[in-house]
Amino acid sequence: MRIESLTVGPFAVNAYILANESTSEAIVVDPGADTERLLARLDALGLRVRSVVATHGHLAHVGGARDFVEAAARRSDAPSTPVPFCLHADDAAILASLPERALLFGLPPASPPGIDVELSDSATLELGDETVTILHTPGHSPGSVCLWIESERALLTGDVLFSGSVGRSDIEGSSATRLVGSIRERLFPLGDDVTVFPGHGSKTTLGNERETNPFLSGQLLGGDA
Ligand SMILES: [Zn+2]
Ligand SMILES: [Zn+2]
Repeated sequence: MRIESLTVGPFAVNAYILANESTSEAIVVDPGADTERLLARLDALGLRVRSVVATHGHLAHVGGARDFVEAAARRSDAPSTPVPFCLHADDAAILASLPERALLFGLPPASPPGIDVELSDSATLELGDETVTILHTPGHSPGSVCLWIESERALLTGDVLFSGSVGRSDIEGSSATRLVGSIRERLFPLGDDVTVFPGHGSKTTLGNERETNPFLSGQLLGGDA
């Protein structure tokens, strides 16, 4: 599976394109903004979008999702084929608050997409002969998920885990205890060699974060994004 990131929007979110190059299908993760840029890249790679996944419901990650889903559906090979939007149901309330959040940040009016597929722990998303597994990793938000691509030893962590940091746990719906528990109990057991593709910032590995991330040593609480 090809994994490509594009940093989009005012919050510098890493949107991801997960592509099965033999079937020319893609899953797009966190299209927070910049629909045209994302579609141009998909076109350049000759990919059709099969689904859109949000790692969680925060504005930065879903602000452009409705626009993207609608535009991707218009461009798909069969124009009447909808592109499903996938989110964990525990972030439905956060998603619904998108218009107020956009207003608060002085951004153009935004409305959320409907949740077509509710993600749940251990659910799989098929992309041709390749598979993405959903891990429910609450803490930064109640419905935060990570995407595990075992064949590539790759993990998309959204705002759960960053290089040298973790997601914020001082905002409504977040919990530092749950966040650290999710990382220690669900992510670290996947193995030190796993490459982490976070929702903001640069790539890292689980081993590197396990050994050096100050937020996971019990000394610090807080985090970013
Ligand atoms: Zn977030
Ligand atoms: Zn974020």
